[in-house]
Amino acid sequence: MRIHPDACHSSVARLYWGQVIIPIVTTQKASQMPYTALQTRYADMVYNRAGRSGLLLPAISLGLWHNFGGVNIRENGRAMVLRAFDLGITHFDLANNYGPPPGSAEETFGGILASDLAPYRDELIISTKAGYRMWAGPYGECGSRKYLIASLDQSLQRMGVAYVDIFYHHRPDPNTPLEETMTALDYAVRSGRALYVGVSNYSAEQTREAAAILRQLGTPCTIHQPAYSMLRRGPENGLIPTLAGEGIGCIVFSPLAQGMLTNRYLNDIPEDSRAAKLSTFLRREQITPELQRTIRALNQLAEQRGQSLAQMAIAWVLRHPGMTSALIGASKPQQIDDCVSALANLSFSAEELVAIDAVLAAEQS
Ligand code: NDP
Repeated sequence: MRIHPDACHSSVARLYWGQVIIPIVTTQKASQMPYTALQTRYADMVYNRAGRSGLLLPAISLGLWHNFGGVNIRENGRAMVLRAFDLGITHFDLANNYGPPPGSAEETFGGILASDLAPYRDELIISTKAGYRMWAGPYGECGSRKYLIASLDQSLQRMGVAYVDIFYHHRPDPNTPLEETMTALDYAVRSGRALYVGVSNYSAEQTREAAAILRQLGTPCTIHQPAYSMLRRGPENGLIPTLAGEGIGCIVFSPLAQGMLTNRYLNDIPEDSRAAKLSTFLRREQITPELQRTIRALNQLAEQRGQSLAQMAIAWVLRHPGMTSALIGASKPQQIDDCVSALANLSFSAEELVAIDAVLAAEQS
C-alpha cells in the first residue's frame, strides 16, 4: 500500500489474517485535518505593551502583505498563520489592499478564521488599514471619512469579522484635514468596528498632531506602524522618541528589509525569493554586490551571537525599550520558526552594536 505523498498524518491499524499481519494505513492531508492550537503556544512568546494602552502584542507579529493573496497557494498561507499562532503570535496584520489582487489577503485570512481560528477569536489581534487605492473614483483612497469607513466595512466583510482589533490610517493624506481623518478613526471605534486605532507612515510631527486630536476625541492613538530596520533607520531621528514620549506603541514593518536582512541573498537571488518574483517593492537590481558585502558582514556578526541574520535583525529592532513588536513577513512556515527563535537572545553588548553600526556605515560610504 502506498502512502499518499501529501500525507502528513497516518494512523496504522493491524488486521490479523491467519498468521499474516496486514498494516492498514489511513492518510489525511494537513488541509483536511481539523486544527487544534498547541497547548504550549504561550510558553515562550514575549508580549509587550503598546505604549500606555492596555493592549499587549507579541514581540513578533505576522503580516500578510505578501504570499497570502489570491494568486498564492492557500494551503501555504494557512500553514503559516497556524504555525505562527502555535508559536504565540497572536497578532496578524492586514490592509485593505494586500493581495494581489487587492483585498484577497483579507479573504484568505477570513477563510482561515472560518475554517480554523474562529474558536480562538478572542485570542487574536487582527489589524487592517486603509489609505491606498482600493476602488475607482474620488472615494477609493486617501483619508476622507467617506473612504475610511466604507473601506473598513469592506474589510470586515472580506474577513467575516464583526470588528477588527486595530484600524490604521495607512499613510498621511495632505489634502484631507487631519481632524476629519482622526474623527473617522474615532468613529470606527465608537461604532464598534474597531477596538483601537493607529497610524502608519506618519512623520513624528504628523503623529504628534494626530495624537493630540485623537486624545481630545477620547480615542487614544494606540500604535504607530513605521518602516524600520538596519537598512532603514529613519525613525531613530525623531519618530521613536516621539512615540515613547506620547505613550504610543510602535510596531515596525519590514524589520528584515523584505528579506535582504536574512540568509536569502548572501550569495545569489533564489528563484523563490521576493526579489526574483518581479515584486515592484523589492527588485533584483536592489541586490547589488555592495549590499551582499554588507549582509555577509552582518551575517558573520549574527553567527558570532549564535543567531541567523534574520534573528539578529529582529533582535536589533526590538532593542529599543519602547518597541512593541517586529512585524515580519514570511513565505514558508519554517521562516516563522526561525524568526521566533530570535527571542532566545534579544540583548546586545555595546561592542556588538558598535560593530553593526560600523558595517552599516561602510555600506553607506
Ligand atoms: P520582512 O522584512 O520581515 O520580510 C519578509 C521576507 O523576508 C519574507 O517574505 C521572506 O522572503 C524573508 N524571510 C522572513 N523570515 C526569514 C527567515 N527566517 N529566513 C530567511 N528569509 C526570511 O517583512 P515584509 O516586508 O514582508 O513586511 C512585513 C509586514 O509589514 C507586511 O506583511 C505588512 O503587514 C507590514 N507592512 C506594512 C506597511 C505599511 O505601509 N504599513 C508596508 C509594508 C509592510 P522570501 O519571500 O523571499 O522568502
